[in-house]
Amino acid sequence: MQIALSPSDLAFRDEVRAFLDEALTDDLRAAAARQAGVFAEADLNRRWHRTLYLKGWVAPAWPKAHGGAGFSPVQRYIWESECAAAGAPALPAMGLQMCGPVLIGCGSEAQKAFFLPRILSGEHYWCQGYSEPQSGSDLAALQCRAVREGDAYIVNGTKLWTTHAHYANWMFLLVRTDAGGKPQQGISFLLLDMATPGIAIKPIVTLAGDHEVNQVFFDDVRIPAANLVGRENEGWTVAKYLLEFERGGAYAPRIRGLIRQIRRIAAQEAADGASLAADPAFARRLGAIEIETEAIAQTEARIVSQLSLGGGRDWAPSLLKLKGTETMQAASELAMEAIGFYAGADQRAALGLGANTPPVGPDHAATPTARYLNLRASTIYGGSSEVQRNILARAALGL
Ligand SMILES: Cc1cc2nc3c(=O)[nH]c(=O)nc-3n(C[C@H](O)[C@H](O)[C@H](O)COP(=O)(O)OP(=O)(O)OC[C@H]3O[C@@H](n4cnc5c(N)ncnc54)[C@H](O)[C@@H]3O)c2cc1C
Repeated sequence: MQIALSPSDLAFRDEVRAFLDEALTDDLRAAAARQAGVFAEADLNRRWHRTLYLKGWVAPAWPKAHGGAGFSPVQRYIWESECAAAGAPALPAMGLQMCGPVLIGCGSEAQKAFFLPRILSGEHYWCQGYSEPQSGSDLAALQCRAVREGDAYIVNGTKLWTTHAHYANWMFLLVRTDAGGKPQQGISFLLLDMATPGIAIKPIVTLAGDHEVNQVFFDDVRIPAANLVGRENEGWTVAKYLLEFERGGAYAPRIRGLIRQIRRIAAQEAADGASLAADPAFARRLGAIEIETEAIAQTEARIVSQLSLGGGRDWAPSLLKLKGTETMQAASELAMEAIGFYAGADQRAALGLGANTPPVGPDHAATPTARYLNLRASTIYGGSSEVQRNILARAALGL
């Protein structure tokens, strides 16, 4: 299947390329290339966010009426593809791709007026408080409690794996406001100013050496009732609406970036005295990843085309999350193997913003192991692979 871009989409792609050529300065590209996390570090985010905000492109999917770029589905896919190809920093999804769309869809007029401009400008940096120690895949089991007292909710409990909570000044969170009835029925969706007294953030440093995630504790934290999104006890509807955005996104362009990196490494590394790129076993593994990636690209193109014609996405986000993350992991594993014994070196001092230590070995050895380790989590967060398979079994296969 070939999906051709229209002349206006081709013109848009050229405009995006020209913009990225100029806006992605050498130091921004270099800083982004040394990031191994899911999202870039906060200072890098802020710089890139600001550039996109001034251009009016920081929220590609938001309607223009709310200050977004109002890109069409095809334009959004072009945008994400070109950003991945150019090596742009990965902006956090929590404000722009999760909280913003949820407020547009489910927020009050006052909430939209206050929060949306601040998400756009970058003044508000968001984190997502969904998971808890006993509640991840089974999100409806969450226990973090909020009790209404006058014009506020008093929150006690904890949230786990909260990405970038240590940078964020706002959190959207799910809390239990009623313990009776079905677990899904007593949940509410709140917006929390992280400067509120009673919040403690404990860092979790992962196997990759990154500090991206945290555990957050709430001790009598007071949230104004005006920060309730939707109705009390009906937060599950809001949460499900948000998950649609969490599982979207373009995987193929990002995997193609990893494939390009593998090719660059293989051209310089040797296997049995010859170039690694010429090794048949290596070429076979790379070929298998490329075939998967093209299948993902075709699926993404089909869905974009479906969306352009006014159709829905059905179970497609689950399919893409499953295949996209598993193929990214396979590519990151091959990249790590391609650097040979440098894979075992501790490169943490050479990674991240402000690193002034050269990597152990060649430049291309700096990130593969950290990325490999970081990507282990990609088949867990945003709904694990097993959960996606369950959804596909029910919704796509009717089992
Ligand atoms: C790096 C990282 C960042 C994260 N960031 C955030 C964040 O910012 N905000 C946030 O709220 N959460 C975040 N999470 C949490 C993430 O959403 C959960 O880890 C995820 O939902 C899985 O939940 P769990 O860890 O409790 O594992 P569990 O749900 O306990 O799952 C354990 C295992 O059992 C399997 N399993 C569970 N249920 C089923 C089932 N019904 N059928 C078959 N298999 C099943 C799972 O696939 C998994 O293999 C993050 C997690 C990670 C690792």
